[in-house]
Amino acid sequence: MLPVDGRSLSLAKKILSEGRLVAFPTETVYGLGADAFNDSAVSLIYRTKGRPSDNPLIVHLHKDYDISRLVDGIPDYARALSAAFLPGPLTMVYKSRGAVCPAVSCGLDTLAVRIPSHPCAQAFLKYVDIPVAAPSANISKHVSPVTAGHVYDDFKGKIELILDGGKCSGGIESTVLDCTGKVPCVLRSGLVTRDMIAQVAGECDEYIMKDGERVRSPGMKYKHYSPRCKTALFAYADRMQALRLYRECDCRGERAYIMCDRQTAADMGDARILDLGGDEREVAANLYDRLREGERVADMIIAVAPLKQDGVMVGVMNRLTKACG
Ligand code: AMP
Ligand code: MG
Repeated sequence: MLPVDGRSLSLAKKILSEGRLVAFPTETVYGLGADAFNDSAVSLIYRTKGRPSDNPLIVHLHKDYDISRLVDGIPDYARALSAAFLPGPLTMVYKSRGAVCPAVSCGLDTLAVRIPSHPCAQAFLKYVDIPVAAPSANISKHVSPVTAGHVYDDFKGKIELILDGGKCSGGIESTVLDCTGKVPCVLRSGLVTRDMIAQVAGECDEYIMKDGERVRSPGMKYKHYSPRCKTALFAYADRMQALRLYRECDCRGERAYIMCDRQTAADMGDARILDLGGDEREVAANLYDRLREGERVADMIIAVAPLKQDGVMVGVMNRLTKACG
């Protein structure tokens, strides 16, 4: 684990050029990066994470990288969205030019690209000056990492270099937006919300998988974000049931924690709380950190969904349901 400076960046460049992996901070979660032009380096990502081989990776670029080297057919609405939100937590899926190795997109004819805003991510990407393929830097299915320590905890000595940029401010993965159609379509919700996109692009769809359809964002079909302890999830309206379960656990000698936002915590008396914070951005920023804290201290995490379910909370609820549902 090293802070981002001249020495660590030059080491990062050397490691990537030799086909190995570097973990780096972004404004959403930590990424596990490899040279997107190097086949064996990209397959090392899948092996190291235990990631299913049909779940494609996002390519990370510095803000001055010419993306027309990698993708084709960028629609006008995507240019407007790029001007409005990039660098930032928005991943855009375009038709691929086939320049990066096929394993990045798992053989799809599209490529997901992202320009992160975190200054350390930009410094790293600028220094190495190649497209860096990177999923979140956690063991597949485990909770995503929002500190360098989380990355270390998952991989121990297996990652040669973790660039330490402190705690990620965003906290949930980027919004994934399909930009291959006439209208942009949210494949995974995140901090750039559907409303924010619609305000710039005029309209925005949201992908909901229909029965029997081939999934458009393969990552969606997998179990994700699971803490290594028992979990339960209650709707806000059922929060007193959550408290009842908490008391039952206490009686059985099981150490339960209630994970909820600050408004809900006020109704939970003296129960042990994993506090997600006061507003939607705070809740997103704290979610993975509290899930990882929970698996350390609790036999069971009893999550209560926030009352508000729009905007950024759409993305939070998507993760919370997969983690604790
Ligand atoms: P992760 O990097 O672990 O946050 O996951 C990346 C997400 O982006 C997954 O949900 C992938 O399915 C999605 N993704 C990556 N590339 C593509 C692509 N070419 N088309 C659609 N979704 C993609
Ligand atoms: Mg991930």
